[in-house]
Amino acid sequence: TTVEHVEPAVCSIKVVCRIRPLNDAEERSKSQFIFTNIADDSLTVGGKTYNYDKVFHPKTPQEKVYTETARQIVKDVLSGYNGTIFAYGQTSSGKTHTMEGVLDDTDRMGIIPRIVQDIFNHIYSMDENLEFHIKVSYFEIYMDKIRDLLDVSKNNLVVHEDKNKVPYVKGVTERFVSSPEEVMDVIDEGKENRHVSVTNMNEHSSRSHSVFLIDVRQENLKTQKKLSGKLYLVDLAGSEKVSKTGAEGNTLDEAKNINKSLSALGNVIAALAEGAKSHIPYRDSKLTRILQESLGGNARTTIITCVSPASYNESETKSTLLFGQRAK
Ligand code: ADP
Ligand code: MG
Repeated sequence: TTVEHVEPAVCSIKVVCRIRPLNDAEERSKSQFIFTNIADDSLTVGGKTYNYDKVFHPKTPQEKVYTETARQIVKDVLSGYNGTIFAYGQTSSGKTHTMEGVLDDTDRMGIIPRIVQDIFNHIYSMDENLEFHIKVSYFEIYMDKIRDLLDVSKNNLVVHEDKNKVPYVKGVTERFVSSPEEVMDVIDEGKENRHVSVTNMNEHSSRSHSVFLIDVRQENLKTQKKLSGKLYLVDLAGSEKVSKTGAEGNTLDEAKNINKSLSALGNVIAALAEGAKSHIPYRDSKLTRILQESLGGNARTTIITCVSPASYNESETKSTLLFGQRAK
């Protein structure tokens, strides 16, 4: 008899949850830790259990988060797949710490610098006949406008489709890079530009989506075979409801914009998770249009929902957990 090997059904969307620690102020004010149970793949709050592919408790080191959320995607991108990793959650839930962390600190660096190091390590150890071209772009979406963080004069870029109907940001700066250090310099440059043009960086970063794109192309010089993979790394705008603070005018417009684009993203992810093949509403927002070829289908997607454990954040935490559940 022959043993038939059955490929497991691969779900290309992975949903994880990261709980940040209580901060000093929360510790001092004796803020309550709201999770009553934290398991490897679920967590419980308010008597309700939410299931995930993976749950990271507050003490989880950056390295482990990287290994469990991004390492495989890096391999896949080097094999010609597209991918997206994004961090979702309210302001100060740990999105930037997770995606970026402290860039020049081996322990505290986040997913992006680890990905960059890993990509180059792989390349250095690969077949000499493979020639790689890596380029990166860095932009943000604020009030539905795409701003190039590597060229501040480009503050309203448009999304176009190439001849294969694949959307892309037309005219966005692309930097060829040949070492992890060069990529770090590009990230620093983008962050610097972002700082210069805004008055309150924290407020601004919580109201815009920042997108770092790594585009990997390779050619086998012997066989002429070409492969290309794109990896989008997205630090989303804060998901908090703004009504609480009695927002008016500009703040209210910003809030509406964020709600609209985050719910468009949620709808796309939910449609993909349900296995829908058509009518995935990519066109409902700029972000989902840009990500179209890198979300669902053959692409690898990881959603990192970031949550606060403090009792005063409970309703935002629950709404973030519900976002995560829609993707499962
Ligand atoms: P966000 O980007 O979601 O607004 P941040 O990543 O800036 O939130 O996190 C808010 C604060 O909490 C920062 O000072 C950050 O260093 C800290 N923090 C977040 N997550 C963790 C964590 N897992 N471990 C230690 N500190 C964290
Ligand atoms: Mg942030």
